[in-house]
Amino acid sequence: MAKNSVRVTFLGGLGEIGRNCLALEQDGRIVVVDAGLMFPEPNMYGVDIILPDFRWLIERRDRVDAIVLTHGHEDHTGALRYLVKDINVPIYGSALTLGFARHRLTEAKVAKDLTFIEVADGERRQIGPFEVEFIPVTHSVPSAYSLAFRTKIGIIVHSGDFKLDLTPIDGRRTDIARLAALGDEGVALLMCDSTNAEEPGFTASERTVGGALRRLFLERPKRRMVVACFASHIHRVQQIIDVALEQNRKIALMGRSMEANVKLARKLHMLRVETSDFIDIENVDSFEPGEVCVICTGSQGEPLAALSKLSRGDARNFKVGGDDTVILSSHPIPGNEWSVGRVIDDLHRAGTEVIHSGNEPVHASGHAR
Ligand SMILES: [Zn+2]
Repeated sequence: MAKNSVRVTFLGGLGEIGRNCLALEQDGRIVVVDAGLMFPEPNMYGVDIILPDFRWLIERRDRVDAIVLTHGHEDHTGALRYLVKDINVPIYGSALTLGFARHRLTEAKVAKDLTFIEVADGERRQIGPFEVEFIPVTHSVPSAYSLAFRTKIGIIVHSGDFKLDLTPIDGRRTDIARLAALGDEGVALLMCDSTNAEEPGFTASERTVGGALRRLFLERPKRRMVVACFASHIHRVQQIIDVALEQNRKIALMGRSMEANVKLARKLHMLRVETSDFIDIENVDSFEPGEVCVICTGSQGEPLAALSKLSRGDARNFKVGGDDTVILSSHPIPGNEWSVGRVIDDLHRAGTEVIHSGNEPVHASGHAR
């Protein structure tokens, strides 16, 4: 490798949706950005998850200084539990991103000897051979970052996943001014999120989803509302909670990751809801349908998640039927259309009303058009 050069090595995430992972190298020292997993397609029988090819990194493990996380989605952090078995270096990210990651690593029993280093919005830190700046961006999980690396060849900007939401739920906007200032300074290389990049127009603000949910709830005062979304989408969960509480409904959470993420977000003061607003999922049937809102996992049709179990009548706690409206507050990730379709079919068979992003604006993308 030439003396005044920086090497960028992608271990996943290019030309595919998932397993985002790249290595930035200067003077023989390496910083890893994200370590995500990818979900298999339906015809990949016997395959549970797909990982980046970590062999390249493991061969150079003595030269790796850190792992930097852009945000808390599984396709950016889900492979950490495999990587840290071979490479134990400090992991940097926002409080929420690290909270999600730490929870998964603890579940996998590999978190014990790891070092997590929290960074704040706008912070600059020396990490390995680079000065790294953490620039706030909006996305479908709170506390996401774009990264700017100051290197020997100039500034390298890694956008991370982002959208340009001017009215985000937490008021934390993409720092366009800071990105523009870096542009004025001169950027040697931009690596940019390409999801939706070829779609014209603007991605709707997350706030528009709250309006649609409010209308749908108001039109159905006597029905039990079951809303499925990503457990990491704390702002979506907040909007579902707000709409439910406006109608004096109690909230029941269903799905392990939903319970864990809501707990963490409340601890970090990122979710406004009182303990008395919740009921146990076991007690849902003792309330009138119009008194309850269930928020659950499984919006991607994952076979073992709460919504799939509900759709098959396999859920331990309660069954959905003619009194229920199920809202899939999501859009299938490419490859998941088939499993989502099956869940919708099964719910219809149970006599349940199903609302999804194909018939109501109950989802807004996390990626800029
Ligand atoms: Zn993401």
